[in-house]
Amino acid sequence: MSRALVLNITFQPLCVVSDRRAVVLVLGETAEIVHATDAVMHSERLSVPVPSVVRLRRFVRVPYRWATPLNRRTVFARDEHRCQYCGGPAESIDHVVPRSRGGGHTWDNVVAACRPCNVRKRDRLLHETSMRLARPPREPRGMSWLTYAVGVVPESWAPYLLDAA
Ligand SMILES: [Zn+2]
Repeated sequence: MSRALVLNITFQPLCVVSDRRAVVLVLGETAEIVHATDAVMHSERLSVPVPSVVRLRRFVRVPYRWATPLNRRTVFARDEHRCQYCGGPAESIDHVVPRSRGGGHTWDNVVAACRPCNVRKRDRLLHETSMRLARPPREPRGMSWLTYAVGVVPESWAPYLLDAA
């Protein structure tokens, strides 16, 4: 199954859906195909080109900025699957200020970490250890959510993402 990029009527990227869902949007005349793949989806009565980019026919109001959901997958993606303490392969999520010491489960307090570093740090604050962060953790900006959603962004989406970041 491939995915399709959904654009607002203004061509602003909105979200990523399955290609099947994109076909449903097109058949229901909620969206029109902007870019189609070579694939064709067949139903009993008709054949529809499988879209890779669709555009909604009506304007949809969106929040000023998309928040990237905070989970293991997105934190690993932001930190490039590297332990933020030693640079080794990340295996777990570490709370910089431990939850037991009041640290939140927030973008500026979670980092990808390898298990040895996680164990070594325990429930200590950073300044109580000799460990250092590669860079301060921050909430991803702009279109990061989209890259995290699909891994590799299809070529046909590129023209619609240029101004979106
Ligand atoms: Zn490490």
